Parts: sequence; structure tokens; C-alpha cells
Amino acid sequence: MPNGNVIRGARVGSAPMRPDERHQPAPRQDVTYWCRNDHRVDIRIAADVEPPALWDCPRCGLPAGRDAQNPPGRVRAEPYKSHLAYVKERRTAEEGEALLAEALAALRRRRGE
Ligand SMILES: [Zn+2]
Repeated sequence: MPNGNVIRGARVGSAPMRPDERHQPAPRQDVTYWCRNDHRVDIRIAADVEPPALWDCPRCGLPAGRDAQNPPGRVRAEPYKSHLAYVKERRTAEEGEALLAEALAALRRRRGE
């Protein structure tokens, strides 16, 4: 009976695909990243995975971050901070003025002014 063989062959071929995986996909989360060039990058990862902090933008290659207002980039990259940024975290503007005045005074003394 030829038809019986055809049917049995199809069943054997489909056996490795488990029905659960086809009808109940693992839970996913959508994560959006923004690069410095305002490129939006949507990725979908497993729901139980912590999204990486950075994702390479597929359009321009720059690192993209999850904060649209403050995307990482060559100039304002996180965690890289300029020396000034570190100083501003430690000092108030007033302290900065005082330090600047001090430094200028020292500079003038060295120049003999
Ligand atoms: Zn980009």
C-alpha cells in the first residue's frame, strides 16, 4: 500500500520539531537602542535575559544605548568621561571659579606679572 509509506515518511521527517516549540514560543522582550545618529535599533531577545547596555548600530556601526536622550558616541561616550566631567562631579561651579582664579594667579606669578 504505497500511500501508507508516504504518510509514514512525512511523520518521521516532522518528528524532531516539538509541537510545544512551534505553538508556544519562549517569552521575548523588545529592546530599543539609539545611536548618536538618531538611528533606532529594535532587537528582540529572550525575556529572562538582561539586555546589554550597548548594541552596535547596524546602520552606522556606532554603539547604541537604551537612553534616547543620551546615546553613547565618540564624543560623549559612556563610561568614558572627559576630565572636565569628572571635575564637575566633584566640584561646584563656585569651587571651580576659585580654583581657576588660583591657577591663573599662580600662572601670572610664574610669568612675573
Ligand atoms: Zn546609527
